[in-house]
Amino acid sequence: MGATTTIKYEPVIGLEIHAELLTNTKMFCRCPVVDPTISPPNTAVCVVCTGQPGVLPVINKRAVEYAIMVGLALNCEIRETSIFARKNYFYPDLPKGYQISQYEYPLCINGWLDIELENGQTKRIGIRRAHLEEDTAKNTHLNDGTSLIDFNRSGVALLEIVTEPDLRSAEEVEAFARKLRAILQYLGVNNGDMSKGVLRMEPNISVRPIGSDELWTRTEVKNLNSIRNVARATAYEIERQISTYESGGQVIQQTMGWDELRQITVPQRGKEDAHDYRYFPEPDLPPLQVSHEWIEEIRAKMPELPDVKRQRYMDELGLGEYDASVLVADRAIAEWFELAVSEGGDPKNLANWIIVEMFRLMNKDGLEREQISEIKIQPAQLVALIKLVEDRIINNNTAKKVLATMYAEGGDPVEIVKAQGLAQETDSSVLQAAIEQVLDENPDEVQRWLNGEEKVEKFLFGQVMRALKGKADAQILGPLLNTALRNRHE
Ligand code: ADP
Ligand code: MG
Ligand code: ZN
Repeated sequence: MGATTTIKYEPVIGLEIHAELLTNTKMFCRCPVVDPTISPPNTAVCVVCTGQPGVLPVINKRAVEYAIMVGLALNCEIRETSIFARKNYFYPDLPKGYQISQYEYPLCINGWLDIELENGQTKRIGIRRAHLEEDTAKNTHLNDGTSLIDFNRSGVALLEIVTEPDLRSAEEVEAFARKLRAILQYLGVNNGDMSKGVLRMEPNISVRPIGSDELWTRTEVKNLNSIRNVARATAYEIERQISTYESGGQVIQQTMGWDELRQITVPQRGKEDAHDYRYFPEPDLPPLQVSHEWIEEIRAKMPELPDVKRQRYMDELGLGEYDASVLVADRAIAEWFELAVSEGGDPKNLANWIIVEMFRLMNKDGLEREQISEIKIQPAQLVALIKLVEDRIINNNTAKKVLATMYAEGGDPVEIVKAQGLAQETDSSVLQAAIEQVLDENPDEVQRWLNGEEKVEKFLFGQVMRALKGKADAQILGPLLNTALRNRHE
């Protein structure tokens, strides 16, 4: 019998991202952009964004500026002339019967974003385009069969970003998604909240035999409410497609949804690629012109982005690459850290306390790292806590306990140390007395030490520390204990 050859497959993934822009008003009218979870339905609407006949759209300049910022951050070419088009389709959330979008001539094209992989390598992911469009209204389907439509979202400025199919694993997808979200937050153009649908990421996934450079049939996964789920759905879909081919089946091009409960993808509907949207240039809007000068003006006032910030943390603050990467991964974390540095904290010490101790407390509490601004500990208070350790008022272990109190209840570390009587015992006569008592109570251990068993010293140190309720100044206690032991030689 001949050897059977098993085909090995590689995943091929491209992402489509929709980001609502944080403009004050909508894309083509002056209605305010409101939080859909707070504002009553249909209170931020007008004739333009509800699609009344005969009204005229006007382009929101701030939305264009934000789109250019993202385009520059993603190393795109910014087109000086781009064109809005009508994408025609009917759906209850789209009363006009068309969505104004950009099609053949998008504002930003041919960019890239570098992502950092687990193995420390960097990979460049192509950005095909980033274009402006308007969001649709929001449908809510009730159990009794009624459907409700909220037009508050209708016409909100939306940026669609499309990558090349350059991603090769769920891990790469996650790294890309995190980095892109961080950039949008750094730029202040989107708050990154995927659970509210303000930011939506849809992976297009296919697999193909390794070595092939064809694109095989893809599926697209929608309704992903977190980056974690984008990665999970991608991993699941890759496995599903590979086993489909391995069992002799065919992958069908279709749109899938993510079933959070069962942790699987489920077919939603046939792919509407067959749809002919009959795009044509929006007759009510002139071509969008952006001058070279304006683009340069925007470039000049761009905030510091994660890659540059990470390098600065390494070069100017002396942080290692790992610490720097963790701190810049999210704007909220970087801001918290920088506030603490501006309060006079030592960057390396701060990085250590934030990444090891604070993130541990947050993690135990079910908080994500980027929720750092919501916790009770304030940057200046962490600086004060570290100073208590440096001044040897408290030791490291006590500091960790104080931090836990600060996390749980809030409050100033100096006050907590005072109120709970946690200051270190530095009085050498007190330490001396405790040492002598412990040595008297442990004659066997003392004898073992005298016989050359050095590790017993550690045990005795622990005993003295315990006798002093963990508050002894270790730097004084160590030498005192050693001397006391030596003195027992005769
Ligand atoms: P559409 O606009 O119909 O959704 P596009 O061709 O614009 O399709 O691609 C959308 C996204 O899907 C892009 O990110 C692209 O890189 C990706 N993509 C296209 N074909 C494939 C494929 N065969 N496998 C994986 N990703 C793909
Ligand atoms: Mg698509
Ligand atoms: Zn309106």
